[in-house]
Amino acid sequence: MSEITKDDILEALKAVTDPISGKDVVSAGMIQGLQTRDGNVAFAIEVPADKGAELEPLRKEAENTVFALSGVVSATVVLTAERPQGSQEQATPQAAPQGGQQTKPGQPVPPQGQGDLLPGVKSIIAVASGKGGVGKSTTAVNIALGLAAGGHKVGLLDADIYGPSMPRMMGITGRPNSADGKTLDPMENYGVKVMSIGFMIDEETPMIWRGPMVQSALEQMMRDVNWGELDVLVVDMPPGTGDAQLTMAQRVPLTGAVIVSTPQDIALLDARKGLNMFRKVDVPVFGIVENMSYFLCPDNGKRYDIFGHGGAKKEAERMGVDFLGEVPIEIEIRENSDKGTPITVSDPDSQSAANYRAIASTVWDKIEKATGGESRAPKIVIQ
Ligand code: ADP
Repeated sequence: MSEITKDDILEALKAVTDPISGKDVVSAGMIQGLQTRDGNVAFAIEVPADKGAELEPLRKEAENTVFALSGVVSATVVLTAERPQGSQEQATPQAAPQGGQQTKPGQPVPPQGQGDLLPGVKSIIAVASGKGGVGKSTTAVNIALGLAAGGHKVGLLDADIYGPSMPRMMGITGRPNSADGKTLDPMENYGVKVMSIGFMIDEETPMIWRGPMVQSALEQMMRDVNWGELDVLVVDMPPGTGDAQLTMAQRVPLTGAVIVSTPQDIALLDARKGLNMFRKVDVPVFGIVENMSYFLCPDNGKRYDIFGHGGAKKEAERMGVDFLGEVPIEIEIRENSDKGTPITVSDPDSQSAANYRAIASTVWDKIEKATGGESRAPKIVIQ
């Protein structure tokens, strides 16, 4: 079977007509970021921002047209609304799906007030940080596992589209299965369901995401994944306070947010930015976790407050949020986190695992408070 080329695909797409302009989607300049690799095809169709829902049939038609071509293994088409109508700026989606993945249709961005992204999920918490490298993902993983250890049904969504770390941290390899060719089954390890863009793309794939692509990928990972019934979905947010964070904070009905910070003042300033972002969009901030709070020496078990201690706690008080707990900087945490055996499961009797469980338990109390307990399931339809 000869390799399908971009020209073949564009030729076929000339048969698809944009109902708004009456032109075919290729002549209308709507096809963006077309990629093919081993028969896996991905591209975006640029549409006016307010026409997303209306043009879903167009997306579907384009996807079906490409999927029907001989030599095409999968077709992933998303609608993107990068530019205001009339401007010429291009979106450049860079993530081509690979492997024998079935079709994974993209979804248009639903207008506010529409859509039910996660019907079986009772609560959603975001784990966020103002900047990278503070241990946000490690904390998200161990909180998720701490919640699971508490008997709750837990999912973990890696929203860190730019630097997905959940496959490695949760020790999961392989690709998610799709039984119906439309929705993906989440991966699972240590009793926690996991979804990450890292399952779909190779680590080396350069990812130059633009705002709408990020949004679309995040929404697919919620809507097109069979999360099933969950007590809580823990979302590992991308670091910082940019597009992806705002998307999550605004589009996902977050029950609350947990901010991870190191004790250094500069990190605390960043933490405050994250905090203010959630406050702006009316997401309750459950509190701050101080990570790498002190050094736990493996030789003598002694505690060294190398960054000074108590900064995050004081800062939390000053900002009027709760202090959820502290975690030491410890070789065992790093080693286990990086080899896919998080300390909460690999060494549950350790002090640090106990710290994580205590944090998870506090978080759970706050979830219960925020949702009025499980008997009154929260509304999770986007408002
Ligand atoms: P972020 O998500 O904020 O970028 P990560 O969770 O990826 O941060 O952590 C960055 C690095 O720091 C990883 O190598 C991780 O194993 C390590 N790390 C995180 N928390 C701790 C800790 N408490 N003790 C030791 N190493 C840690």
